[in-house]
This record gives sequence, structure tokens and C-alpha cells, in this order.
Amino acid sequence: MEQQIPYKIYLKETEMPTAWYNVRADMKNKPAPLLNPGTGKPMTAAELEGVFCEELVAQELNDTDRFIPIPEEIRSFYKMYRPSPLIRAYCLEEKLGTPAKIYYKFEGNNTSGSHKLNSAIAQAYYAKKQGLKGVTTETGAGQWGTALSMACSYFDLDCRVYMVKVSYEQKPFRREVMRTYGARVTPSPSDTTEIGRKILAEFPGTTGSLGCAISEAVEDAVTHEGYRYVLGSVLNQVLLHQSVIGLETKAALDQYGITPDIIIGCAGGGSNLGGLIAPFMGEKLRGEKEYRIIAVEPASCPSFTRGKFAYDFCDTGKVCPLAKMYTLGSGFIPAPNHAGGLRYHGMSSTLSQLYEDGYLEATTAVQTDVFQAAEQFARVEGILPAPESAHAIKVAIDEAMKCKETGEAKTIVFGLTGTGYFDMVAYERFHNGEMSDYIPTNEELEKSLAKLPQIN
Ligand SMILES: *Cc1c(COP(=O)(O)O)cnc(C)c1O
Repeated sequence: MEQQIPYKIYLKETEMPTAWYNVRADMKNKPAPLLNPGTGKPMTAAELEGVFCEELVAQELNDTDRFIPIPEEIRSFYKMYRPSPLIRAYCLEEKLGTPAKIYYKFEGNNTSGSHKLNSAIAQAYYAKKQGLKGVTTETGAGQWGTALSMACSYFDLDCRVYMVKVSYEQKPFRREVMRTYGARVTPSPSDTTEIGRKILAEFPGTTGSLGCAISEAVEDAVTHEGYRYVLGSVLNQVLLHQSVIGLETKAALDQYGITPDIIIGCAGGGSNLGGLIAPFMGEKLRGEKEYRIIAVEPASCPSFTRGKFAYDFCDTGKVCPLAKMYTLGSGFIPAPNHAGGLRYHGMSSTLSQLYEDGYLEATTAVQTDVFQAAEQFARVEGILPAPESAHAIKVAIDEAMKCKETGEAKTIVFGLTGTGYFDMVAYERFHNGEMSDYIPTNEELEKSLAKLPQIN
């Protein structure tokens, strides 16, 4: 008889992971190195340390150690809001009438409202340990900036956030949360940096993009003594920190002898997905288990499904190292989309390599379908999801409905990355029927991809 599975599986504090899992150690084809945009050669640790914190550079370049211990200070902070629950979506299953068993790992149970705090606290810790004064960063929708300001205030570090202008104006409450935690928030592009002034001169009236904000944040860091730049997604180190999500998920499932058939996550820069799937991908890479892993991206910003696997700039100002990734081109500015956290032009190099090698699938969802799924989920499971997370919900529901047709009782696990309380303007537009489903044309994408740097 099947052991009764509770609605929520919580690990005990003593069962929480003590080390992050580095999936790169198990990859035969490692993610391609970051390149120096000036020389075209792989970035050395010394070069990277001009921009990033030392310990984080070591993690970024570490392709060999399978486990990296989580420092005690970070584990203590994790204990304030972790373990996060793994929830069996009994109510949703019943509503859908599906034989599928659906689980979701909920990362929205902290003030920042998303998984981003898992990496923010680690990055702030290493900055403090290095004796820095502060860090700079960009934020799109505001989740990363919020998480980082919380982490910085905990370690008494200065935090300077460049927030994409359109979000700065549309999301005043996010901005105020950051200021509550002591961060300085600047709308980007701004006239406080050289690159910001250049972008403003070239594109007057622009509402900004993540790529612009990254350029400004990097410039701020490298021109101020005692500051380094930190990034909330895309980088290997961020996926490493986020592996805590997957490790907890796997430990919780193992306690009940559950093996997922399908694992689903939304993909912006790839950090929550990379973290959720990490230990499962490890088993897959070592040939121990087989899982279907699905990345879900917005149809308006389809890096995996319509982008190219190539070296590209990570930012609009082209000041950052080049990364080999699935990209739409660093000049690609996606149509306004209410899942701000999924609007980045590129994708994690680690996930890009895994996708290239056939270890994960990718699919897209249009906004109105995503919000419909979000609402359906909120009404039965109670949690009001972030629009980003709702991309995973949409595909989890689709897969569960396929099970209904075939009668298969598959086990589906998806990442519910955060809550959507700061996204009520988007929900309002959905309710009023004012939401559009813009999908970029091939011509638009070709135009942007034509400007990729020529590197083999
Ligand atoms: C930032 C964010 C994402 C997307 O970022 P990834 O790095 O792809 O995980 C997804 N969901 C929420 C709630 C976010 O804040």
C-alpha cells in the first residue's frame, strides 16, 4: 500500500543540505569558459576578481568539486526561512481530475518572495568575508534587488541597485522594500554612469533593459574602491547556490520513496531551474536514472527554443565577459512582458550546454495562458504565484492533463519560485482582458542574432 504522503513535506533542520552540489563536476562537456571581450581568451581568475568577489570567482571556475560546503553563517541564515516546503498538490490534482501526482517546491516563503535569497545571502557573505564595503547589481522586476538588499543588510554591506526604469516606475513598492533594507536604488539607464549616459543619448526615452542595468552596475563596481558586482542568475556560482532547492526536494522525495518522472521549471537566466534539477541531473549524467526535465520560457523571450548557442555579450554595454549560451542577442529587448524575471536575452552556460547535449527539453508559453494557469492554481492551492513561476504551473497542468487522457499516474515535480503580490498590475491587466501575447517575428530575431560577436 502506498504510504500516505502528507500535503507538505518539510525536512528537519538537521536534514538540510550542508554542501551545495556542483553539477558541472558530473558533466562530460563542461560549460564553455567566460571570455575576455578584449582578447577573446578565457577570463583568468585574476581578471574576474576585478569585477567579482574572490571566493565567488573560485566557485565560478570550479568544474571539478562535486560538493562545496555551505559555510555555517549561510546555513544559519537559511534556517530562518528554509527548508522550504515540498507540497503535494492534492487539491489541484482533484480539480483537474488527473491520475498524475503533482508536487511543487515553494520558494516564496521569505520576505523577498522568491528563491533569489538563496544566492543573495551566499554572495553577500563572501563579499563581507573579503572585507568589501559593498556590492552593486541590477534588478529587473525587483526580486533579485530585494533579496540582495535583505542579504546585505544582514551582513551590514552597502547595496547599490540599478533597477530597469520601467520596473522602477511601475513597481514602486518593490523599490520601497529595497530601500527599507537600506539599498540605494537608481532607475536605469541613469546619468550616473558613463554607459548609462551613452545609452540615453543613443536611445532617448528608453525604458531600459536588464542588459543596460548590468552595464551600469558593473561600471559602478569597477570604478569604486571596495565594491564588487554581483549577479542574481545566469552564472555558474548562482546555479551552485540554488542547488539547495534541488537537494532539499530530492531529500524530501527520498523520504517517501518517490521518484519523479517529469521535473519542470521556468527559465529566465536559469538559476531556479538549474538549482531544482541539479541532483536529478547529476543522476542522469552519471547514467543512474532517467528523468524528463522541461524548461519553460516566455514566448516573448525564447532563448532556448529560438535562440542560438553561441558566445555573446551578457550586457548591452558589452563590458562584461562573453558567455557561450543560448541567446537572442545582447541587443534583443523583449516586448513588455509581465514576467519580468524571465526577460533576459541569454541563458545559463551550464543549462545551455546540457540543453545542447540533449539532457533537457524546452518549451514556451504565452502570457495569457500563463496567467490563466496562475489563477487556476491560486484558486485551488491558495498560493498566489509570481508570473514567472506560473510558466512552470502552466506546463505542469498541461502534462497532468495528458496523464488524464492516457490514464498514466506520472509523478510531476515543478518549481514554484515565488509569490506574485507585487505583480497585481499584471493580474489586473489579465482580468481586464488587456494583456497581449506578443511573440517576436523571425525577422526581429534574425536582426538581433546577426549582431552576435564572431567567435568560434
Ligand atoms: C528571477 C525569477 C525567476 C527567473 O530567474 P531564474 O534565474 O531563471 O530562476 C523565476 N521566478 C521568480 C519568482 C524570480 O524572481
